[in-house]
Amino acid sequence: MNFKFMENISIETLIHSAEASEGMPLEIALRLLDPVGSDLFICLQAAYSLRQKYFGKDVTIHILNNVQNGLCPEDCRYCAQSRTSKASIAQYPMKSDNEILQEARAAYAQGAHRYCMVFSGTGPTDTRIEKLTSLIGLIKNNVKIEVCVSPGAINAQQAAQLKAAGLDRLNHNLNTAETYYSSICSTHSYYDRLQTLMAAKSAGLAICSGVIIGMGESPVDVYSMAKQLGAVGANSIPVNFFMPIEGTSIKEAVGLTPEYCLRILCLFRLMNPKAELRMAAGREMHLRSLEVMGLYPANSLFLQGYLNTHGDSDWRTLNMIKDAGFSIVSEVSLDSLLVEKQSCSNEYLKTRQQLRPFKQENEG
Ligand code: SF4
Repeated sequence: MNFKFMENISIETLIHSAEASEGMPLEIALRLLDPVGSDLFICLQAAYSLRQKYFGKDVTIHILNNVQNGLCPEDCRYCAQSRTSKASIAQYPMKSDNEILQEARAAYAQGAHRYCMVFSGTGPTDTRIEKLTSLIGLIKNNVKIEVCVSPGAINAQQAAQLKAAGLDRLNHNLNTAETYYSSICSTHSYYDRLQTLMAAKSAGLAICSGVIIGMGESPVDVYSMAKQLGAVGANSIPVNFFMPIEGTSIKEAVGLTPEYCLRILCLFRLMNPKAELRMAAGREMHLRSLEVMGLYPANSLFLQGYLNTHGDSDWRTLNMIKDAGFSIVSEVSLDSLLVEKQSCSNEYLKTRQQLRPFKQENEG
C-alpha cells in the first residue's frame, strides 16, 4: 500500500480504532507499522494514553526461571532448546524444589511481582502436573509473589488442576501467525497452541501468551497475532524481538529496527489496551537507544535476562524505569533496590586486563 500521499494519521483516529468494538482495521494497523504511513510520536502518544489510562506509570517486573532447560523433542526453529538446535546451552532436567524456592525468594527481593517458571518440552505428564501443584503451593505459602508457569501444552483437566493449586497465570506463547506457523515449526501446529490457551481460559486461569517478532513474518502476520491474542483474551502479552543464538535454525533477525520495534509495541497496546504488555526478550538488542521509549506502550518487562541469554544489568534497567518517571509494582521500593545495586556493583570498575591490554610478561 502506498501511504505517501495520504493525510497523516491522528491520535484520535488511532485511539478511536483501538476502542471500537470491531477492533482496529487492518489498514490502520499497516499504517501504524510503516514509517511512511504514520508519525512515530503520534503512535507513541496514542499508545501511551491507553497505557496510562489502564496502568498509570506502573511497571511490572517479571523474573524468569528456566526450571528445565534443553532436551526438547519439538523442532521450533527459533529455539536453542529444540531437538534440531546445535546451540551450546546448559541442558538439565527439572531443578529441585529447594532450588526453585530459593530462586523465588531472590526474585521477590529483587523487585519481581511475578515469578515465571519455564519448562522445555512438549508438555507435562500427569505426574509432572501433580509435582507442579505441590510446587505452586510451596512457593505461594512461602513467598509473596505471583506465580506463572509455562509448562508446554496442557489439556483441560491439567489446567483445572493447576488452577485448583493456586496458579496465578499460565504462559503459552502463540509465537507467530497462523499462516506463518509451519515456517517456524513442524512438530506441532498453531491450532495445538490455541487449544492450550482455550483449556487454560476455560479453567479460569489468567493467560499470558506472546509473540516473537523478527522471524520473517509480514506486517499482516503481526496484525493477525495481535488480533488473535485479543480474541483469546490474553491477560498478558510478552512481545519478544528475535535474538539469534548460534546453532539454531533461524540464523538472524529479519527487519527489526528500533523504530519498527516501537511501532510493534504501539500496535499491540492499541489492539489490546487492557493487557499487561511486556517488552520481552531482545529489548536491549533491538530497541537499542530507543529502549526507554518502549515503556510508553509497554507496562512490563523482564529483569535479569531471558531463558538462555543475558539482558542488561538490573541496575541499568531499574535506572531506566526511574529516570523516565515510572514506578515498579512491588513491596520493595525502586529507590532501595537502586541503592543496593549501586553499592554492590563493581560493573563500572575496569579490570587490570582492560587497563593494561598490551602489558608484556616481563613488564612491571
Ligand atoms: S516446545 Fe518450547 S522448548 Fe521445545 S523447541 Fe519449542 S519453544 Fe523450544
